[in-house]
This record gives sequence, C-alpha cells and structure tokens, in this order.
Amino acid sequence: MKFAPALPAIYGETLASLTARLAEIGQPAFRAGQVLDWLYKKRVATWDEMTNLPRELRDWLRTNFDVAPTSFVLDRQSGDETDKLLLELGDRSLIETVIIRAPMLGVGVNRSRKTICISTQVGCAMGCKFCASGLDGLKRNLSAGEIVHQLIQVCRLEDAQTPRARAELASFDNIVVMGMGEPLHNYEAIIRALTIVNADWGLGFGARRITLSTSGLVPRILELADEPLGLRLAISLHGATDEVREQIMPVNKKYPLAELLPAVRAFSEKKGRMVTLEFILIADINDSLDQAERLRDIAYDLHAHVNLIPYNTVEGLPWKRPSVNRQERFADVLRARGVSVTLRREKGHDIAAACGQLRLQTEKTRDAGLAAPV
Ligand code: SAH
Ligand code: SF4
Repeated sequence: MKFAPALPAIYGETLASLTARLAEIGQPAFRAGQVLDWLYKKRVATWDEMTNLPRELRDWLRTNFDVAPTSFVLDRQSGDETDKLLLELGDRSLIETVIIRAPMLGVGVNRSRKTICISTQVGCAMGCKFCASGLDGLKRNLSAGEIVHQLIQVCRLEDAQTPRARAELASFDNIVVMGMGEPLHNYEAIIRALTIVNADWGLGFGARRITLSTSGLVPRILELADEPLGLRLAISLHGATDEVREQIMPVNKKYPLAELLPAVRAFSEKKGRMVTLEFILIADINDSLDQAERLRDIAYDLHAHVNLIPYNTVEGLPWKRPSVNRQERFADVLRARGVSVTLRREKGHDIAAACGQLRLQTEKTRDAGLAAPV
C-alpha cells in the first residue's frame, strides 16, 4: 500500500510560524491564536470542531497540516502507579508515553502527583548496552509536533477521567524527557516542542517542572545552558569512572568524564540549579563500594542530587540488579558524606526504565502478523 506524503503536524507550529503561514494566504493575525486556543486550551481532536473559523480556512488547514500525528494503539495499565500508552505515528512507527502517578498525602483521595514521560526518537543511536530503546539502533527522529502531541493525548485521556478545575490547565504536574531516544540528539525538535509546551499560547506548562535526561552529549549540554528555557537537567551517569562507564555507554568514548563533568558544572552554575545524576545499579558492573565512593565525590563536588535506580531487566540482556542489601550499602556511602540521594523503590523504577520495551515487543508481534500483547 502506498502512503500519501505526510503533512507537517500542526502541533509543531509556534504562534509566530502559524501567524506567518496564515498571512501568506491573507488571513488576519488573530486566526493563529484561535487555532492554538482550540488545540491547547479546548483540546479538540478535529478541524471541524473549530467552529469559529471560516469553513474555507478549516479546509485549507486540513490539506496543509496533520491534526492527529499520533494515535492510540494500546493503553496498558501496569497497576495504579503507571499507565503506559503505546502510540502509532503516521509511518506506523511505535513510541511510548508513560503516565506515572504518585499519591499526594493529605490532599484528598483522588489527588495524585502525575508525571508524564515522553519519547523523542524512534529507537536510539547511543547504543547503551543495558537499554531496550537502543537495541535496534535509531529509526528516526520525532518531529516537534509528534513530541507535543504525546502530551495532548495524555491531557485528553486525563480530561475524560478527571474534571478539571480550570478547563485550560494541563492535568499533570511534571514532564520528564526520559522515554525512548536521546533528546539532545534531536536538539532542534525537542527545544521547539518544549517551547510550545511552555508558551502561554501553548500548554502554558512551567519549564521548571520539565526534566530533560541525557546520556551526556557535551556540546549540546553547553548549548542547553544558553537556552532561555529554564529546564531541569538529569545526567545518565551509570559509571563513576571512565573504565566502568565506557563498558556500558559507548558515548563515554566520545565524551569522557573529564569533559562531561565540567559541562554539567557549567550548566548548573549558569542556571543556578541542582542537576540530578542518574545511576542505574547493575550487579557486578557498577555496584562496588569503590564506585559508590567515586560517585559520592563527583556528586559532592557538583552539588548534585543522585538518583539510584535498581536495574530493570530487559528481555534478551544478561544484566541484573543487585540485592536490596547491596543497594542500601551503596546508598549509605553517599549519605554518609551528606550527598542528597534517592533509591527508587521497585515500582517507581519500572517507569522510565522500562520505556522502549513495550514498543519492541509490539513491533515484533505486529510485524509477524500477530496481535499486540496486552
Ligand atoms: N536517552 C536519555 C533519556 C532516556 S533513557 C538518557 O539516556 O538519559 C531514561 C533513563 O532510563 C536513563 O537514565 C537510562 O539510562 C535509564 N534506563 C534505560 N534502560 C534501563 C533499564 N533497563 N533499567 C533501568 N534504567 C534504565
Ligand atoms: Fe538511548 Fe538513553 Fe537508552 Fe542510552 S539509555 S540507549 S541514550 S535511550
């Protein structure tokens, strides 16, 4: 079957770019604002619902932009805490978006803190040895519109379930860019997407509630420090010496710790924000007390927070997490010097960690002509 050439997603347009595009066809400037209001505040799914636009303009938009760049394939609730959405793109590629719910004490029964984990690429080129997302390499970058639309899908789902106090507010508390892909390897698209998410005319979502996680692309970290967006930064460290890190993260050969750590410091100082160091604990790979001591010194020096994540097993890969005792001993080494550290519990780590696995599983069964797993 031949597919029609893909139209650009309307969700990748900014107020300025859409105003300029509409001016070319003689439309007044206020029309762009009306379109964005339908998309981000009222969150309609079709052009026909944009009832204050002239019919000819709706027809023009329909032939020039895609209003549904992602569609639901599967919504897999993995318990009360996480909800994984599998989304299909125009070219049938699959991506994952995860909703993570953490109960908030004392704020009423139905209120929980919601964090949304979004993907930035189909697959990943970085080839970390432990990660499901990188197993088949990079298929392609997501466009800015495909990145933004993941959040719109979540908003619609949540809007339908929970009546919102104010219709236009997004129904979640935090965004983490920790799904499939290396966000800084798709730099322009992720910056454009998060600018749209942050803008008043977009989702109006505070940049300080957005955390971007990277495997450590040094020049891009420095560029990010100069962006006007005040994002939070997390670094996937996973090794406290070059020897250990490059064994599991090929990116360390290009950007070793001697380059990465000063870049992290520069970011932290420029933005005046504490950076998070993520450290997956993998048995017999990076869980020695020597690694703990070195990580402690790095974090202390950078004044960084450390997130210890017990490794989540990936089908087909040999790695395992250490025992709970060993995890605790590792964490204690850091705590003893006053380093701020969290050791994720069983359920929590399932979240970003398992991103990429559902997609791989479904692609395999789909391409073999079987039904998707549920
Ligand atoms: N590419 C970016 C963001 C996506 S990965 C990055 O690497 O930072 C999000 C986080 O999940 C990273 O810290 C990554 O190392 C971690 N992760 C990947 N596979 C995992 C697994 N099997 N168990 C636990 N964490 C994992
Ligand atoms: Fe890519 Fe991040 Fe997975 Fe490494 S950990 S392969 S950078 S998604």
